Amino acid sequence: MQQTPMKFDMWVHGEWYAGSGGGSVEVTNPATAELLATVPEGNQGDVDRIIESSREGLKVWRSTQPRVRAQILYRIAETLKARAEEFATLYSLNSGGSIGTGMWTMNDVAARRFEYYAGLADKIRGDSFSTPNQYLSYTLREPVGVTGHIVPWNGPLWIGSRTIAPALAAGNSVVVKPSSAAPLTMLKFAELASECGLPPGVFNVVTGRGSTTGNLFAAHRGLDGVYFTGSTHTGRQILNHAAHNNMRTVMELGGKSPNIVFEDADMEAALDGAILAIFANAGQICVAGSRLLVQDSIHDEFVDRLVAKARQITIGGPEANALMGPLITARQRDQVLEHIERAKSVADLVIGGGTPNAPELQNGFFVEPTIFDGVPSDASLCREEIFGPVLSVSSFKTQEEAITMANDTEYGLASAVWTQDVQRAHQVAAALDAGQVYVNHYYTAAFEVSRTPYKASGHGVSEGPDAIFEFLRQKAVSIKIGEVAWGD
Ligand code: NAD
Repeated sequence: MQQTPMKFDMWVHGEWYAGSGGGSVEVTNPATAELLATVPEGNQGDVDRIIESSREGLKVWRSTQPRVRAQILYRIAETLKARAEEFATLYSLNSGGSIGTGMWTMNDVAARRFEYYAGLADKIRGDSFSTPNQYLSYTLREPVGVTGHIVPWNGPLWIGSRTIAPALAAGNSVVVKPSSAAPLTMLKFAELASECGLPPGVFNVVTGRGSTTGNLFAAHRGLDGVYFTGSTHTGRQILNHAAHNNMRTVMELGGKSPNIVFEDADMEAALDGAILAIFANAGQICVAGSRLLVQDSIHDEFVDRLVAKARQITIGGPEANALMGPLITARQRDQVLEHIERAKSVADLVIGGGTPNAPELQNGFFVEPTIFDGVPSDASLCREEIFGPVLSVSSFKTQEEAITMANDTEYGLASAVWTQDVQRAHQVAAALDAGQVYVNHYYTAAFEVSRTPYKASGHGVSEGPDAIFEFLRQKAVSIKIGEVAWGD
């Protein structure tokens, strides 16, 4: 049944704000292609106003007792958990993921991060140093200031919380620019955060297209730091602004992650892992295992069994609770299909390659689980991030060759290795040029563990205790406590 489209405004200084230009952006339900909502298209005046509000919010928030900041963040976590179903439903309608994924990302990812960083808010501390020549020196850790968070569509809160929670814990004000394809959960969350006690201006949301509003936002001189999660291509554009404005940056960008299966692996576990790695969320996960490297001695059996498992994959809209939902937009679906067409001339298509036939899937932006075998390492399928349910399979002979093939990419976001040889596991983990290595599983939701992306996948620390330092500046104070005796 067609839903009446919703209307959302931006969230500015603790209230809804329709914007001054009158322009709007349509938000579509990717499972049905129906209009879901409209949001304002922020213009320069709106961005100016929002950043001014955030500057005001910063004054209040940075001088709020850390203990009180922690209490508010904790309340946000608890309230999000209590309202997880409402948020999961909105996420599913807007991003196309299943309700199950929505519930997991609200309860076990987004809320959990607010809880985690609530615990750190009152543990931020500097150091003291006894320096020579009669100085006592100490450091103060202070918030960066007004922080801009640019978030992709594949998990607005699940990904957004990764930078928003530590930024707030450290006393920064936050402005979020969600993707124009999926802004709704972030807007709803802004209202929730305000109800939980965030003062006006501490958390604002600006909406609009990336190429217009996003660009104005990232270029704004009123931002003190920009925390970007999205494609490497857009990340480079934002870095140009950051270089010009000398802004603090953290970049979490794209990937083309290798998933290596050795002949001594637990084959059934590796098969399930390989399916999950590329087909969960229809491949729209930054760390998706899109390059499967299989040792040649088990290659044929592995690919046969992989294809059999891929045939069992469920595809459907949110209510179907399927492993694979739709791609986010018609444009994204068409780009994925173009990648598939190009790959057909260089590799063997072993399953999929088109859109599913089921009548109920005809309006949405669905693509079949697709596997190519015998993919040469210079093929674009092996090189470019597709961000869809397309797996490239190649084989290797030796451990050394596997490592060389795995590292032969501009990206360095994640990687996985399947082996029962503990020595080999450590050797390969150390040799992989990526910020995350999964051994005998795929995907970790261990936000207690800090890490950095490698190579073109970005820079800066995410997650865990060390991420908080990306949201803090360090000031050295030195006090003269006696007469300086140079040369002593
Ligand atoms: P995208 O780069 O197109 O957009 C990301 C965000 O940037 C959106 O909010 C968009 O509106 C905004 N944007 C676009 N152009 C802009 C510009 N010129 N100036 C300022 N903002 C702009 O990415 P996407 O398609 O939304 O998401 C998919 C990409 O995100 C993939 O490359 C994926 O790997 C990456 N991603 C990375 C991680 C990670 O943790 N490394 C997580 C999720 C997604």
